Amino acid sequence: MKEGKELYKKAELPAGAHVEPCPVCGADAELWQYSKDFKNGPIDKVVMCANGERFGPQDGAVNEGCLLYMPPQDFYRGRVVEAVKFWNQYAKALNAQRRGRNWKRAQVLREATPNAELRGDGPASPARRPSSNDGLGAAAPERN
Ligand SMILES: [Zn+2]
Repeated sequence: MKEGKELYKKAELPAGAHVEPCPVCGADAELWQYSKDFKNGPIDKVVMCANGERFGPQDGAVNEGCLLYMPPQDFYRGRVVEAVKFWNQYAKALNAQRRGRNWKRAQVLREATPNAELRGDGPASPARRPSSNDGLGAAAPERN
């Protein structure tokens, strides 16, 4: 449950509204209302990650759920469309950053690691094979 649960009420997304999954943990996102006074308002709208499961180190403020289970104040908006738009923009931007960095990181690995090293064939090993001249031992692909 959300901390201070009397301050939060779960809300239904308007028909046809699309909400991105949580960009941190991949869980579904939910629309919530937040108010200190639901009778008189104002009532903020906020999209929050649904993942309140305890995981990782249970210490300090990171002791329950995903970081976006209780997102920062900027996620709280006056209108549903604004809250959904803010969440979706944040999620798409963060996912795009991660995709780009993962791609770069994987590319570095591909360039720096020839297949021979991945298979454990050191440069000295073909010479130790007595049959390396019969053509069958030259299995290492020629790259670069
Ligand atoms: Zn999450």
